[in-house]
Amino acid sequence: MTLTIDYDFRNQIRGFNASLNYCYQCATCTGICPVAQLTNGDFNPRKLIEASLLGLKDKLINLQQPNVWYCLTCQKCVEVCPQKVELTEIFDVIKNSCVKAGKIPDAFNSQAISVLETGIALPFSDPIMKRRGQLGLEEYKTADPKEINTLLKSIGFDKLLRFEAPTKTEKDGGK
Ligand code: SF4
Ligand code: SF4
Repeated sequence: MTLTIDYDFRNQIRGFNASLNYCYQCATCTGICPVAQLTNGDFNPRKLIEASLLGLKDKLINLQQPNVWYCLTCQKCVEVCPQKVELTEIFDVIKNSCVKAGKIPDAFNSQAISVLETGIALPFSDPIMKRRGQLGLEEYKTADPKEINTLLKSIGFDKLLRFEAPTKTEKDGGK
């Protein structure tokens, strides 16, 4: 596989978060990452940072190797990094680039549509609302969804999402 260095992409990430420059590839982040452990190293934060340092845009965005969306944003890696690299901030730049390239996973696309339409990513179900009432919790309120919708559309958020219903094949996971 031929890997092309994209200097603009590398500079874009470094410009957004200069802590990338200080990574010396010690792999302490990978050692503590719960997802790296669960995936037997298939997901690897050190490799994400390495590819960012090298400007390997195609590997990070199109191939998604490793897949940045697996990160839980638990911040364990950030806490232990001896160089104070802000990994999750850097991952945000990669994720944003994925979204602009139409490479947003279905689950995140659905949550984004929910934010656009209701103002929250994971709306409470009726049973949860009922349970809240039984527990004497205050009525759950969000900002006006119409205002949120208007704001998000004004920055082109809706243009980044997929609204078509999944085909039966997609729903079945390609079976
Ligand atoms: S722990 Fe920090 S310095 Fe070490 S590889 Fe990870 S990001 Fe780089
Ligand atoms: S923030 Fe992401 S990369 Fe870092 S330890 Fe948690 S899951 Fe792993």
